Amino acid sequence: MLTTTNISKLKKEISKAKKNNLTIGFVPTMGYFHKGHLSLMRAAKKKCNFVVVSIFVNPLQFAPTEDLKKYPRDIKRDCLLAKKEGVDLVFIPQVKEMYPEGFATTVSINSTLTKTMCAVSRPTHFTGVVTVVAKLFNLVTPDFAFFGEKDYQQLLIIKKLVVDLNFPLKIISCPLIRDKDGLALSSRNKYLSPAERTKALSLYKSLLAAKEAILKGESNPEKIKKIMQEVLKPNTKIDYIKIGNPETLEDLKIIKKKVLIAVAAKVGTTRLIDNIVVKLS
Ligand code: AMP
Repeated sequence: MLTTTNISKLKKEISKAKKNNLTIGFVPTMGYFHKGHLSLMRAAKKKCNFVVVSIFVNPLQFAPTEDLKKYPRDIKRDCLLAKKEGVDLVFIPQVKEMYPEGFATTVSINSTLTKTMCAVSRPTHFTGVVTVVAKLFNLVTPDFAFFGEKDYQQLLIIKKLVVDLNFPLKIISCPLIRDKDGLALSSRNKYLSPAERTKALSLYKSLLAAKEAILKGESNPEKIKKIMQEVLKPNTKIDYIKIGNPETLEDLKIIKKKVLIAVAAKVGTTRLIDNIVVKLS
């Protein structure tokens, strides 16, 4: 497995792979790998014969008050794990490689997708994400790029980016991976004390309570929100609960067919997100 911090080395390796007619799969990450990240690499490896993983804690997607500095990092361990998954190339740029002095261009999406959920409390976040992903797509020029449903809103936004700017690649969405007890895997889980980790389970429990009520016939989103609040309130500070259309993220007035249920909440100082999609037959 090759690793590089350097854009020209990355490009050289990519053109070699292209000359050899290899299909390029790309998994962008911020590192500190868990089984969620590894599942994306595995999916990429299955579909493609040259897999590139990027590790970059992107300052552009963090607000000044957020956890950029303390975001967990362990490049050595990440590289060992990526190697085990058969990854071919790990790109680990420095901030100045991605944003050299004078960098002045951002890509932002003006859509209902970027005006709801996480965008409300993190108004600059998705512009940061979309800008870095657009840059990485231009550098890696993948045939397929793999994103997790854990970041459901991000996944839809990246799909929109690809369509709107005609990136010649296909986005592959991968299922959300949970710990045995149901907690959605996240690098930020590292911030949680054992007591907070137990409290954090209430995110998934609230989603399950919502699902159960919907499957029993409850179709009023406000009633579902109340059920979720009862589970969440004792343990977390709720940022939002979304009962929405899984394609457009628009709020639903009545639940039918297919619904996205998503939640963001703080446990102590750690902000966590989780979601499920419920289908009614
Ligand atoms: P991150 O390093 O948190 O920016 O995540 C990099 C990629 O891994 C994104 O596409 C995430 O959606 C995906 N990812 C993170 N956590 C999970 C998870 N628990 N299950 C599946 N994919 C995940």
